Amino acid sequence: MAKTVIVIGSGFAGLSAATHLAHQGYEVTLLEKNEVPGGRARVFKTDGFTFDMGPSWYWMPEVFEKYFEFFGKKRSDYYDLVRLDPSYSIFFGKGDVMHLPATMEKLYELFESYEAGSSKKLKQFLEEAKYKYETGMDDFVHRPGHSIFEFADPRILTSLFKLQLFSSMSSHVRKLFKNEKLIQLLEFPVLFLGATPENTPALYSLMNYADMSLGTWYPKGGMHEIIKGMVTLAEEKGVKILLDHEVKNIVVPNGHASEVITTKGSFTADVIIGGADYNHVEQHLLPKRSRVYSPEYWDKRTMAPSSLLFYIGVDKKLEGLHHHNLFFDADFNLHAEEIYEDPKWPTKPLFYACVPSITDDSVAPEGKENLFLLVPLAPGLEDTDELREKYFGIIMDRLEAQLGTDVRNHIIYKRSYAHNDFKKDYHAFKGNAYGLANTLMQTAFLKPKMKSSKVNNLFYTGQLTTPGPGVPPSLISGKVVAEVVSKEFPQN
Ligand SMILES: Cc1cc2nc3c(=O)[nH]c(=O)nc-3n(C[C@H](O)[C@H](O)[C@H](O)COP(=O)(O)OP(=O)(O)OC[C@H]3O[C@@H](n4cnc5c(N)ncnc54)[C@H](O)[C@@H]3O)c2cc1C
Repeated sequence: MAKTVIVIGSGFAGLSAATHLAHQGYEVTLLEKNEVPGGRARVFKTDGFTFDMGPSWYWMPEVFEKYFEFFGKKRSDYYDLVRLDPSYSIFFGKGDVMHLPATMEKLYELFESYEAGSSKKLKQFLEEAKYKYETGMDDFVHRPGHSIFEFADPRILTSLFKLQLFSSMSSHVRKLFKNEKLIQLLEFPVLFLGATPENTPALYSLMNYADMSLGTWYPKGGMHEIIKGMVTLAEEKGVKILLDHEVKNIVVPNGHASEVITTKGSFTADVIIGGADYNHVEQHLLPKRSRVYSPEYWDKRTMAPSSLLFYIGVDKKLEGLHHHNLFFDADFNLHAEEIYEDPKWPTKPLFYACVPSITDDSVAPEGKENLFLLVPLAPGLEDTDELREKYFGIIMDRLEAQLGTDVRNHIIYKRSYAHNDFKKDYHAFKGNAYGLANTLMQTAFLKPKMKSSKVNNLFYTGQLTTPGPGVPPSLISGKVVAEVVSKEFPQN
């Protein structure tokens, strides 16, 4: 008899864990509360538009290639990719726009145009970043992070210095570059993924390597195509996916999870994997005596930002925008401070505009534009319709001024999304969007653990445990937890 597994949540991590285990012969049931799979990468269609609800940046393409290859498939069996050029644009002020080219030669020219001699420094910076990326991706991210001893082998210890775990991203970048715009360009990936550059280990310059050397890609049809591909593959492997099945309770009679109670009945299995937000599974689904962490522990975690999002249909084409547009025409440090140090709605927000209809005519009707706007916000803030509208006005004023065109009067569809929705739809702790921040004190074995120390058959996966937030890490998290489960609960 095959061992049985229940996975809670159909995000990237849950789907990945379920598929890996089904591939090894486990009988896997995946329970998802929403009616659409994909978690934060859900999609909705309306009025001829297709809106990706969460992730829009496709980075680290080899992680996806390897995912499908592991099962003897090809990524291209499921969706097509295009490389974006420019990768993205940064608006620093009216008429002051930086377009990130996709080729290295043009990238070096761009750096020189902002700071003489900086292309040589960029080469050095990216070589170090490549080393970190390769060491990190080949090794670190695949360690479950049960304990510090996983990292105590001589090869890792000798590389620790080169990995720059103990210096900050901010000082690393500032040692090499003086131009503020280049500094912002190099610091933005860590800000969007979860902590200030001052509090993020310089290890994470690996993200710059992912950004600048490996490129920004786009799956034709939108990011949800990845989820569709993963669902098809999961079902090919025999995973039973039950949507609209919200888990309300995990029954733990004596240190062993015996049963999972959902809105549509109860299920039993040999192993349970929580792929929903870690905090929700452990603080709200488990009996108190089975929780490893306290409410105070959770309160002290540095969460990655929440976001205010707008999904907008525009009845005309928007000249002057590219696929990805970062509006840094505001004080970068102040906004970062208002997310992490002194949480409040930002005085003058940075924001991001994604226009996938520039690359893909399938996501908007002809002659119209699909516009996704994102303002990173501190988690746990008050969220009201009035505040959302106030900030909509602020970013629209800036967008219209930058583009020199009327956008507001051309809006034919608009939906907002923020903290309250993240909580309602995903049970997101404090309404977080991207999980736990990548600070030094929340790296590797210092993250909430993949395996419960109180419930012998309960495991966790996803963006709040190892290796961390983002689509590629969540995919990897699912693979790692499957490896841990297959060691602890091997098939006979
Ligand atoms: C707005 C936004 C933009 C982002 N942009 C990017 C980007 O551009 N690139 C990138 O790489 N990453 C991005 N991210 C981060 C990335 O989307 C996440 O890190 C990743 O999707 C997390 O996957 P996950 O499987 O851990 O969690 P989730 O996607 O949240 O999946 C968890 C699932 O569990 C379900 N669930 C919750 N409670 C229960 C319950 N009680 N019973 C059953 N099911 C339950 C939820 O409904 C959900 O489907 C973005 C995230 C957001 C929100």
